[in-house]
Amino acid sequence: MTIGILGGGQLGYMLALAGYPLGLHFRFLDPSPEAPVGRIAARVTVPFDDRKALERFASGLELMTYEFENVPVESARFLEKFVPVLPPPTALEAAQDRLIEKQLFQKLDIPTTEFVAPKIGEDLEPLLKKRGYPVIIKTRRLGYDGKGQWILRNPDGLAAAKEELPKVPLILEKFVPFTRELSVLAARSRSGEIAIYPLVENHHREGILRLSIAPAPNVEPATQKAAEDAARRVLEELKYVGVLAIELFEHDGKIMANEMAPRVHNSGHWTIEGAVTSQFENHLRAVMGLPLGSTAATGCSAMLNLIGELPETRDVLQVPNAHLHLYGKSPRPGRKLGHVTVRGSTMENLTAQLGELPVFFRQPEFCLNEVSRPSAVAKRG
Ligand code: AMP
Repeated sequence: MTIGILGGGQLGYMLALAGYPLGLHFRFLDPSPEAPVGRIAARVTVPFDDRKALERFASGLELMTYEFENVPVESARFLEKFVPVLPPPTALEAAQDRLIEKQLFQKLDIPTTEFVAPKIGEDLEPLLKKRGYPVIIKTRRLGYDGKGQWILRNPDGLAAAKEELPKVPLILEKFVPFTRELSVLAARSRSGEIAIYPLVENHHREGILRLSIAPAPNVEPATQKAAEDAARRVLEELKYVGVLAIELFEHDGKIMANEMAPRVHNSGHWTIEGAVTSQFENHLRAVMGLPLGSTAATGCSAMLNLIGELPETRDVLQVPNAHLHLYGKSPRPGRKLGHVTVRGSTMENLTAQLGELPVFFRQPEFCLNEVSRPSAVAKRG
């Protein structure tokens, strides 16, 4: 049985690794000849909108899924003529435009950041005068890892950013002085079965995820429940099939949805070693209509992203519960090259093991100092 995957990055790579023990085969489509899945599976190198190639690609596939959310929605819809495409393209559409995404959260009564979507080229000065600072301006489409974002703290900030702002649809969001960032990962299968992972605490630097701790420490049962309710509402509204991630802010003891990703997610990599069933396996089970596996955590995990440069393999592996994942990409600044998951029986045990990691991980980029705080919660000013 062969599954087609649009996108051939590390998420696809890990999906294939989870699928081989289930007897599955994979075929990937990615415009880049450097896509890392080429190491382990059949890969077709064509643009996402090459319809002839898409049709050929779909031939003989059981179903199609994606590991990249900026696949053109029209291409996903076109592929539906030949094979089931899961998650449904409607989910892609909602996640690709921050305005549609926020309107979906509002419709489903899921608290989200206050926002306004100005017209292209509209003078932002009167708008901001009325709404106040600080504010984050984001491009509605194609922003990721903090790209396409400007934080304005006062009118001077607007004057400075004006030159840089592109003439594309934008969204202005109120800056939330959140306590911490969390994410919820959930899977819904073709039969409608839903399974939800415990909340994850995420630490970013320069807009890029650096560290995830799972399960997130000190989560009130009401917070876990609110996140699960939010995930369930989105999954059911979109008749979603597969794994979905929702990024959240915890603020004043409540959660607010920031954005969602209609795919497996970087903040779920810990599930490979830290949960009974990984997000990758559960995504495949979901799209195949198989029973979902348990999402329970097996102890406490920390996932550290390796960005731009790599540590010595030997140094990482001398920590008994450290697991290294290298994606097979050539190093480049800002590029996600791999990750390390460290697992402990308790939070104290995990913290002790993190302390054994080589000096490479002592850089502030890894945000490890955040873990050793008693609450593991970073207060933002
Ligand atoms: P995003 O691309 O929306 O995930 O934003 C990237 C990062 O910017 C988030 O992970 C937050 O750290 C920060 N951020 C985004 N939106 C807001 C907001 N409205 N208030 C405060 N911080 C934000």
